[in-house]
Amino acid sequence: MATGTSNPFDLAPKLVTSFIDGQWVGDQGGHRIPTFYPGNGQIISELQEADANEVDRAVRSARRAFNDPKWSGMAIEERQSILCRIADAIDANAYELATLETLNAGIVRRDVLGRQVVRAAYNFRFFAEVISQQPGQVWQQNKDYLTFVTRHPVGVAALIAPWNSPLALASMKVAAAIAYGNTCILKPSEQTPLSLARMVEIINEITPVGVVNLVNGRGQTTGSALVDHSDVDLIAFTGGTETGRTIMQAAGRRLKPAAVELGGKSANIIFADADQERALDGALVSIFSNNGQQCLAGSRILVEDSIFDDFVGRFVERARKIKVGDPLSDETEIGPIASARHREHILSYVDIAQSQGATLLTGGKALDRDGYYIEPTAVLAPSNGDRVCQEEIFGPFAAFVKFSDAEDAIRMANESQFGLVGYLWTQNVDKALRVSQAIRTGLMWVNTPMVRELRAPFGGVKDSGLGRDGATSSMAFFTEEKTTTIPIADVPLRKFGA
Ligand code: NDP
Repeated sequence: MATGTSNPFDLAPKLVTSFIDGQWVGDQGGHRIPTFYPGNGQIISELQEADANEVDRAVRSARRAFNDPKWSGMAIEERQSILCRIADAIDANAYELATLETLNAGIVRRDVLGRQVVRAAYNFRFFAEVISQQPGQVWQQNKDYLTFVTRHPVGVAALIAPWNSPLALASMKVAAAIAYGNTCILKPSEQTPLSLARMVEIINEITPVGVVNLVNGRGQTTGSALVDHSDVDLIAFTGGTETGRTIMQAAGRRLKPAAVELGGKSANIIFADADQERALDGALVSIFSNNGQQCLAGSRILVEDSIFDDFVGRFVERARKIKVGDPLSDETEIGPIASARHREHILSYVDIAQSQGATLLTGGKALDRDGYYIEPTAVLAPSNGDRVCQEEIFGPFAAFVKFSDAEDAIRMANESQFGLVGYLWTQNVDKALRVSQAIRTGLMWVNTPMVRELRAPFGGVKDSGLGRDGATSSMAFFTEEKTTTIPIADVPLRKFGA
């Protein structure tokens, strides 16, 4: 295991290829893509793109592994043991995995060690437990027939992950897929292959050959070859809404199930009767965690008019004190944006907001240093209909809007193409219940930011996606139900031609 004293950059391989059928694919030439350390903008590694032939090899490997009854028909105890051993191996390699995640995604390493890697290991332990509690369904028709439902793995799963939190998001998909006896091919974002390459290698020390494969490359090439492959049985995708539509079209053409977890522009509603200090902490956490690059971000902060100026003033004061810097440093609170292009995308919203009459409250500039850093940013938007309140910026960028009462807050929260999560802060129980149920999202957090209960469904409505993760929801997606009916009495049959 690598330790805290080694040079973090030594952990990044010079070339990342694909991992197919239990081994790294050799240097095949082909298209190469540089990967950068967002902390200084330097190239740290190169990725060799998997072409359609390599994707096909990966799918065939996964199919062979799936067809082996030793895997798909494995006893639950044995599968649980595999999942728990993977979790232990992730824990044992936590420092290396966290460093690789930081080197590619720019998330502060201290946070990755404390959250994402812990969550990655927990995802495997979670499904180890969940598969032992699979509920059954049995019906008895009169005294004559018994009908029961069994669940079976679906087959070969294509798993597609985004760049903003590769370990936590991809591990959830891999864990759920293999827990139910499927095999899979994981495609990380071309921007962030490093941590997932190591995770797949670690998993393959424990799983049979071909159960977990990895293909690296761009979405338009490797990704689309994977989702369009005729022998892929299901697709689980996390990423942007437009890509989600493309994935659903491919799934529709081939009639295969797809779950798409997409973007968000979540409302964070602060009522005047909230615990103000807690709401302030929560608002900062929900927009600035993970360098602001998270689907769950509370990026539209709706504040009741009687406390608006005071709340916004205190938010800005705290935002100005946030330590932005090297994500490998333990002092840093917000690291760099994941890529130069994405940094420009975020900063373009300063002009967009101002052109629609918004006031820049704080931030709005790149830091004058190497790497893709920006100041934590907040704007005061004249209206919830403005672009800065309607479009996913996906960075440390908060938009404040004022509301007058609960009905106004509900209206604004729902005035969005997205519906992933929502936050609300009030000490009035009736209001908390009423408002939380009236907002159209897949999930609401009341007086707390971002607590994930993995057994509960997670996923969005509207343009935030289709499908859910969670104990029951993941089982429903990664298994197929089969109904069997059998007579349990001597039931006479019609006798055609007798
Ligand atoms: P993208 O949609 O650009 O990419 C997601 C993944 O899909 C990447 O691996 C990408 O590859 C791949 N991809 C792109 N085009 C295709 C294609 N035609 N066929 C198959 N695969 C393709 O999203 P980002 O990576 O930019 O991630 C950020 C987005 O993800 C945000 O909108 C965010 O809200 C959302 N997200 C949603 C979450 C949720 O749970 N709801 C959680 C986290 C993020 P490549 O990058 O190599 O092009």
